[in-house]
Amino acid sequence: MRVIVIGAGIGGLACGARLAAQGYDVAILEKNHSVGGRCARHETHGFTFDTGPTLCMMPDTLEQFFHAVGRPMSQYLSLQRLDPAYRITFSDGRTLDFTQQLKTLEQEIQKFGVNELAAFYRFLGHTEALYRTSRELFIDRALERPADYLGIRSLPYLLKARPWRSVAQEARRFFRSPHLQIAFSFQTLYLGISPLDCPSIYSMLPYIDLVQGVHYPVGGMSRVAEALARVFQELGGRLHCQTEVEEIVNQGGQVRGVLLHNEEFLPADIVVSNVDLPTTYHRLLKGQPLPWRSRRPLRMKKGCSAVVFLWGVSQTYPRLHHHNLYLPVPYTQTLRTVFEEGRVPEEPAFYLCAPSKTDPSMAPPGCESIMVLVPVPNQATLHDWPQHVPVLRQRLLHLLQQTLLPGLAHHIVTEQILTPPWYAAQYALADASTFGLSPSFFQSAMFRPQRRSPDLRGLYFVGASAHPGNGVPIVLISARLAADAVVADYGTQPHVHHPVANTAHLA
Ligand SMILES: Cc1cc2nc3c(=O)[nH]c(=O)nc-3n(C[C@H](O)[C@H](O)[C@H](O)COP(=O)(O)OP(=O)(O)OC[C@H]3O[C@@H](n4cnc5c(N)ncnc54)[C@H](O)[C@@H]3O)c2cc1C
Repeated sequence: MRVIVIGAGIGGLACGARLAAQGYDVAILEKNHSVGGRCARHETHGFTFDTGPTLCMMPDTLEQFFHAVGRPMSQYLSLQRLDPAYRITFSDGRTLDFTQQLKTLEQEIQKFGVNELAAFYRFLGHTEALYRTSRELFIDRALERPADYLGIRSLPYLLKARPWRSVAQEARRFFRSPHLQIAFSFQTLYLGISPLDCPSIYSMLPYIDLVQGVHYPVGGMSRVAEALARVFQELGGRLHCQTEVEEIVNQGGQVRGVLLHNEEFLPADIVVSNVDLPTTYHRLLKGQPLPWRSRRPLRMKKGCSAVVFLWGVSQTYPRLHHHNLYLPVPYTQTLRTVFEEGRVPEEPAFYLCAPSKTDPSMAPPGCESIMVLVPVPNQATLHDWPQHVPVLRQRLLHLLQQTLLPGLAHHIVTEQILTPPWYAAQYALADASTFGLSPSFFQSAMFRPQRRSPDLRGLYFVGASAHPGNGVPIVLISARLAADAVVADYGTQPHVHHPVANTAHLA
């Protein structure tokens, strides 16, 4: 059985490798010159920056992948748990370290009120239960038919989880301190949604950070993509970079292959699209007379976008940790500016990554490689980025020099700014939504597009805009679900040796 996977993002690579391990003849076609999609890196003058994901969470999903393809993870990746997971600096100068050292963590929480420690333990107990049940009932499995999600445990769970409340409301239910309310709710920004709008089920995110921990793959997150690509090729899969797909071709409702940008037709029995789902419908299926209902991903709300600053800096900053957050107190106005008013915030919230704190190979001696990510509106609401980016850069530099990075402007030796139009063009992301479809209540779990195309036989979807959602570990789960669907529909294939013709660059 010939499979074509469109896109060598984390989802395409992991799904392709799983299918190759089941004996399928798999080719991955990637439009860019390197693999990894959003999970990529930029190297210049001895500095290395991840340009997408930096926080490696739920490492069990990586372990599951390596187990499924029969490879020891330690031969491909070296993961370190970071402690603290991150430091939050609030706009009034107060700080909170998310550390796994229990005594220190308790002291950190108590800085914000004597009764907050009890609230914290109640929150942790609640979110642990939320995490375990959500994974079992709604994340680790496909939710294609009512029988998949209307089990006898689902309804009591939903009533207890109260998904009609927001993550911000849920944090207020536990904590009195505005700082802690922010610290235990801002994580929804990882998913491109405001905590004011995000369903309370996602309150489990701080639990994941604190208890499962934040990990670092030595060399940066792009090493994860490279490891998946290596496994895929070792299993006989073929990688073709700089190969852009123009259209998914079908005949009588059955997928027949893909048409490339250069008008070459490549036949296939099965096509897996790892391309952002609204783009898959908008571009790759544009010629298909699909029912209005099936084109729902085009009408769904997209998550926010990001502006990312990559700075090579000629000095080190002892106050920085590997992962750092800067959050305004209160942060409601900043969130409303980005998510409701569609403007660049006056006081941005931002995430700052300094991987050279853990891994000296990421910057020359005595230097720091710094990535700053600012959540901004997506291109459905805000355009004119050449005007907005210099304003944002000025605001950010001012803020950083007053707080975490005194004298920064004088020490920047290399600079690269990744804007919403850049992300949109580089990865074909609809409305430059860097995190995919927004995980609002009616766009999560069974309401999110599932792994099988509802219209075309042999077409499957994998990646951040499909179920279960955005983020490297969750996309790894999506890859398992998509590969399982193919195997359920077509069976395991006899292993044959396919001649390998790769055009992949792994950096
Ligand atoms: C700035 C940023 C920070 C992030 N931080 C984190 C984090 O810290 N932790 C975390 O877990 N997640 C993070 N994420 C989210 C994470 O990167 C994504 O969820 C994940 O990488 C998405 O993988 P994917 O396989 O779904 O899609 P993609 O990575 O988008 O892969 C799709 C691939 O398809 C290719 N493609 C598109 N169109 C075509 C075509 N026509 N023909 C051929 N190829 C095509 C694209 O070039 C791309 O390579 C971050 C994302 C961004 C942008």
